[in-house]
Amino acid sequence: MLRVTFLGTGGSLPTPERNPSAIMINREGELMLFDCGEGTQQQMMRAKTGMKALSSIFITHFHADHILGIPGLIQTMSFHGRTEPLKIYGPHHVHEFARILSSLGYYKLKFEIDAIDLSPGDVIKRDEYSIVALKTEHSIPSIGYALVENMRSGRFDRQKAIELGVPPGPLFSKLHKGESVEVDGNIICSEDVVGDARPGRKIVYTGDTRPCKAVLEASKNADLLIHDSTLANEQQEWAIESMHSTAEEASILAKEANVLKLVLTHISSRYSDNPTKLLEEAKKIFDNVIVAEDLMELDIPYRDKI
Ligand SMILES: [Zn+2]
Ligand SMILES: [Zn+2]
Repeated sequence: MLRVTFLGTGGSLPTPERNPSAIMINREGELMLFDCGEGTQQQMMRAKTGMKALSSIFITHFHADHILGIPGLIQTMSFHGRTEPLKIYGPHHVHEFARILSSLGYYKLKFEIDAIDLSPGDVIKRDEYSIVALKTEHSIPSIGYALVENMRSGRFDRQKAIELGVPPGPLFSKLHKGESVEVDGNIICSEDVVGDARPGRKIVYTGDTRPCKAVLEASKNADLLIHDSTLANEQQEWAIESMHSTAEEASILAKEANVLKLVLTHISSRYSDNPTKLLEEAKKIFDNVIVAEDLMELDIPYRDKI
């Protein structure tokens, strides 16, 4: 499973329709939270994402609309008896932030916060995927994130294996893992029955940013790009000044990067209840685009090839 739940899709200000930024990714049961605006924990309850399996929070930058939900969330998890450490990643000063979090009020957390400062280009390697920190362009130090799954083994041709005399059973899995096997004195190679390696899935989340090169590079052929789309074209000057993107700019980048799907988020309060203008401007450039809504869920399936 690779599910993205949009917990907060608003711009800097919360509105009745939109919470500030927060995106949950559930990958095979592991929960990862990207940004955590005010009210995120209640959005998690509404979306029924769970909390226990939350392994990491990835902060894009330290503007309040991306972090104010963390103090409440960690205290709730502590109240529920969490003891496993929680990793918090972000641009420099995460350590300082974590220290403040741990000493807020008179509350003593029952679990450790493992704070990790990231620089653009850093790669966090996990068993089956990596998280890459991307250089974004915002008014304060900021990073975006790409979740990149490892390549998967090719498709196993069961019929062909049987025709070659391999009995179904343990030899099948050996072949699928890339090993050769011997059947009645004949060597059967993995390549004979296993197709080319297949791509894993890739999701890119920009946080707040102008359109920029590192995001473009990282988004090449992504299954999903979640891009800052704070404003419409009529506000482009303000987008440049405040270092956000317009829907059209996000769309141009998505098209150039050949992403499969684009989701527009961080929607300004101006368009909060009616983002039609953003969608229309984006669609003129790139067709497979939607505007994020709070509590929207997207499942990202595997592709056989790109
Ligand atoms: Zn923001
Ligand atoms: Zn910001």
